[in-house]
Amino acid sequence: MCGAVAPSASMALRIPRALSIAGSDSGGGAGIQADVKAFAACGVHGMTAITSITAQNTTTVVAVHTVPADVIVAQVRAVAQDLGVDAVKIGMLGNASTVEAVAGALEELDPGTPVVLDPVLVAESGAVLLDPTAHRTLIELLLPRATVATPNVPEARALTGLTQAEPAELARAVRGLGPDVVVVTGGHLDTTTDVFFDGDHLFELPGERHADGAAHGSGCTHSSVLAAALAWGWEPLAAARLARELAAAAVSHGLVRVGSGPGPVDVLARAGIEPALA
Ligand code: PLP
Repeated sequence: MCGAVAPSASMALRIPRALSIAGSDSGGGAGIQADVKAFAACGVHGMTAITSITAQNTTTVVAVHTVPADVIVAQVRAVAQDLGVDAVKIGMLGNASTVEAVAGALEELDPGTPVVLDPVLVAESGAVLLDPTAHRTLIELLLPRATVATPNVPEARALTGLTQAEPAELARAVRGLGPDVVVVTGGHLDTTTDVFFDGDHLFELPGERHADGAAHGSGCTHSSVLAAALAWGWEPLAAARLARELAAAAVSHGLVRVGSGPGPVDVLARAGIEPALA
């Protein structure tokens, strides 16, 4: 975990605050639920602005309710005005109105607040999590505002129109759409190599594949760990390395016996450990 070190008095002085603007997964595998767990694993106080409520389990998305735009903005404003926000992670947005609302809500934050944009398009089950007619709005309003964008290969191909391109070309093409840094995640590939590109340097961040694990929520976990590390003040490359490492560990600890479909990741690696009785 990010904070595997015992806290000391001096460490307790600073508690980074990270905000997830994303959808709720009733099955607890992805979305807001995964994000808050990842924030906790990284020693960061997690806050949420819920964009959409999905009724889903490990096999299917049954229903989606879009939260009204003014309520999304109100959630961001409420936490920004009182608790403060050191970094933001953006996940499922659903439709163009929500993309517009979130772009406006970012104005509530201090200028320069790091933003990690995970351009969630489609669930593993095939459910559409961003209306295709909203892709253009996402590209125009949010990609240029992102400190780090974290598409997987299918997402990067959909956003750039480069339907056959490989990760390095995709990283360059997505960066051309405006984010400071792009991390094309490789979790679905045979290797789990991520490709990091900051406009000057391109790095491959290799990792092990955990085919026996459970990966639902791995993208959410990756982007949330990355945001948490930025909230701690880490540089994007170090944050991307940590995100790759913890997302892979969360897959390896994934809950393969929970639900009848692809199980949730477990970034905390605590599931099934009964609390000791006092
Ligand atoms: N956000 C929500 C609410 C979801 O339901 C999903 C997938 O089902 C995602 C994000 C993306 O999940 P993953 O991290 O597996 O890409």
